[in-house]
Amino acid sequence: MLRILDFIFPPICPVCGVPVTGHGMMCPECWATFHWIGNPRCAVCGYPFAADLDLGPRPMCPVCAAGKNELEWMRSACVYDDVSRNIMLPFKHAGRIKYRHIMSRGMISAIADIPGAVDVVMPVPLAWRRLFHRGYNQATLLGRPIAAHLGAKMDVDSVRRRYRPDMGHKSARERAENIRGVFSVIHPERISGKTILLVDDVFTSGATFSELRRVLMRAGAAHVWGVTFCRVVRAI
Ligand SMILES: [Zn+2]
Ligand SMILES: [Zn+2]
Repeated sequence: MLRILDFIFPPICPVCGVPVTGHGMMCPECWATFHWIGNPRCAVCGYPFAADLDLGPRPMCPVCAAGKNELEWMRSACVYDDVSRNIMLPFKHAGRIKYRHIMSRGMISAIADIPGAVDVVMPVPLAWRRLFHRGYNQATLLGRPIAAHLGAKMDVDSVRRRYRPDMGHKSARERAENIRGVFSVIHPERISGKTILLVDDVFTSGATFSELRRVLMRAGAAHVWGVTFCRVVRAI
């Protein structure tokens, strides 16, 4: 079946359109333009450090070292910059869901050193109003192949998110205040004792992940980890 499809629709790089070896692949030239995140990085939030720094086996960024968030283990595939924005924004807002393969592939590589087995993959919930306007939760599209890769269940409805206006240009503190209380667990029996991997497209200040983890841990989760496609990296 796949061969017939390859004949009718030859696989092309979804970014630049040149032929590639398989569907959902990006050409090597486009792949090389992304700022993929590797080690050394913060052992907790995944903040990337300069490659020539030797920070020991468990380096931590100042934010995590000071315990200023609720994060446990986070990874992001690449840095949020012009290149990643060029696929992330159309994916999120213009229905270009063909980019999901590239994005989830990068995310699967980013979680290669995940600390243990995952029971549940949970896309960061969207408020109903936003889901209605967009037609899809971009995090769910990214989460499905990751759940399949990990042999974990997808959970898209155990947590509800209340609508709050956009957090576009707010400071980390304002984001943290804005997100307080938006999540509520409606199926605690599915959360209790579980190791959960949260999935979203972008990590900005960590406020959303911190708040969601806090709520899930209160509902009895064993561990709450997370992965995003890209991450805003500011000097800290
Ligand atoms: Zn390309
Ligand atoms: Zn950190």
